[in-house]
Amino acid sequence: MKNTIMEQASKLKEEIIAWRRDFHQNPELSFEEHRTAEKVALHLKSLGLDVQTGVGRTGVVGILYGKEPGPTIALRADMDALPIHDQKQTGYKSTIPGKMHACGHDAHTSILMGAAQFLSQVKRPERGNVKFIFQPAEENGGGAEVMIQDGVLQNPKVDAIAGLHVFPGVPTGSITAVKGVGCAAADFIRIKVIGRGGHAAHPHTAVDSVTVTAQVITALQHIASRQVDPLDSVVITIGTIQGGSANNIIAPEVELTGTVRTLNPALREQMPEKIEKVIKGVTEAMGATYEFLYDKGYPSIINDDQMVELVLQTADAVLGAGKQSLVKPSMGGEDFSYYTHVVPGAFFRLGVGNTEKNTTYPLHHPMFDVDEDALPLGVAMLSAIALNYLSQK
Ligand SMILES: [Zn+2]
Ligand SMILES: [Zn+2]
Repeated sequence: MKNTIMEQASKLKEEIIAWRRDFHQNPELSFEEHRTAEKVALHLKSLGLDVQTGVGRTGVVGILYGKEPGPTIALRADMDALPIHDQKQTGYKSTIPGKMHACGHDAHTSILMGAAQFLSQVKRPERGNVKFIFQPAEENGGGAEVMIQDGVLQNPKVDAIAGLHVFPGVPTGSITAVKGVGCAAADFIRIKVIGRGGHAAHPHTAVDSVTVTAQVITALQHIASRQVDPLDSVVITIGTIQGGSANNIIAPEVELTGTVRTLNPALREQMPEKIEKVIKGVTEAMGATYEFLYDKGYPSIINDDQMVELVLQTADAVLGAGKQSLVKPSMGGEDFSYYTHVVPGAFFRLGVGNTEKNTTYPLHHPMFDVDEDALPLGVAMLSAIALNYLSQK
């Protein structure tokens, strides 16, 4: 299995790289993936697949029917880029100022196009179907949820799903996976601390929102360190602080935004109350008031153990022994989670890190790049996962 699938997938390498560079040069933000979706749809149609466009606004779906009826496995790629200015000096860097594929979704899209080609032209499943999901708006807007609402997991009904994310922290040639909870629920908070303005020299005549805010920020970390079971993970990060207009004026109010990450769904439910209690107590004690918004973002990915086993076995066969490992969950967020709440799924990381090629910058970094040698490995992995699933089920 290893040699044939890897060898055959490697033959598609030049084509996959060309697609990836084209997408990389023409990045499109969440729900604006019109050009990308058009290229994908054209490719899927050229393979003779049953193609639907405009699913979840800018999403594309291709269905490959096997020789005999059977179960349906979905493979998913996301297509959107980020509002980051590309600082690489490669011939294929972004041509659009302020937009960049800094999360590797160009690679995901190209890999899935390659898998569609592989499974329809090189090794067609004996039985069952493969649904290729090209999803918009992973970075901003929850495209997965919108596609599910548009029926992407129906007609034919999807029985299982797999997806990958390129990862610079894993060397090219390897993959990692997580059993159970794969990543954090990623929620958004906005806090306004409201004091009373005044002269900086006479603080007793005002309520200083800056010093109150300092106390609030410190006290919030007590939730993580003192109120939550140390074996349950939680991150509360305040990412922005805005307040004040001059050095000699007491700021009437300060606004903070941040993110709350949890792995345990029960703990997630408790977080709004825990956070508000701290804000309320601290502001009240200092004579200030507050406004508080807690907005739920993507839930956690819940990987299915059997699907993860299938990914690991496939990696042993396709990539060779010792190229896969089980790792701890990530506190990052990823909207693949929505699929895993509906059907059994597995999301794994495809290594693209190569120090010689300078592809070890983190995701979302303006110098981010992928080792393109990993692209055919991604094609081989996704194709083999689909074939293995359909033959075993
Ligand atoms: Zn990202
Ligand atoms: Zn991503």
